[in-house]
Amino acid sequence: MTIAYSYKRNLYLNLTNRCPNRCCFCVRNQKKGLGDAKDLWLDKEPTVDEVVEELDRWDMSLYDEIVFCGYGEPTERMDDLLTIADIIHDRYDKRVRLNTNGLCNLINGRDVIPDMKGRIDNVSISINAPNAERYLEICDPKFGIESYDALISFIEGCVGTVPGVTVTTVSGSITDGEEKECAAIAKRLGVRYFSR
Ligand code: SF4
Repeated sequence: MTIAYSYKRNLYLNLTNRCPNRCCFCVRNQKKGLGDAKDLWLDKEPTVDEVVEELDRWDMSLYDEIVFCGYGEPTERMDDLLTIADIIHDRYDKRVRLNTNGLCNLINGRDVIPDMKGRIDNVSISINAPNAERYLEICDPKFGIESYDALISFIEGCVGTVPGVTVTTVSGSITDGEEKECAAIAKRLGVRYFSR
C-alpha cells in the first residue's frame, strides 16, 4: 500500500481514494501509479500515525515540498490532513501544498478555509472549466450544478489565507478559448493560472 511517493523534488501523500467527482481525464482511469508509486489504490486509508511513521522513512533533505495529492481528494480527510500538516511543519520544517478539487467546503459541510491559515503554504485548485455547465460535463460532481460556485468561493477564500494560490486546468480537456477564459478568471481572482 503506497502512502507516500516521490516525483522530482516533492514528496506526495496519498491519504484517500475517495472523491466526489468523476472527471473525464482522471489519471486513475488510465494507470495505477504516479511518480515512483506502482499502485496508489489503497487497501484502507492510512491513519495519521501510519502517515507520520511513513514520513520518517524518507530523507526529507531531498524534498522541497510535501504535497497532499494521491489517488483521491485529500480534503475528504481535512482534519487528519491538517494534523499531518502541523507535524510536517514542526518536525521537518517543510512547505506543505494541498492539491484539491476545491469542493472542500461541500465535502466537509463547513467553511474549512480558516482552518488552513498558517498550516497550508500553497494550494493548487483544479478549476477545470470556465463555467458551471462545463464543469458539470467535465467533472461530473456528485454535488451537482452548485459545485462550480462553491469552487469559485473556495478560491476567493484562499486568497489572503494561503500564501500561494494556483488554479489549474488539464491541457486537452477543454478548448483553447476555454483555457483563456479560465486564465481570465484566475486574473480577476488574483491567483496564478497553470495549464497542466
Ligand atoms: S477530482 Fe481529481 S481524483 Fe477526483 S475524479 Fe477528478 S481528477 Fe480524479
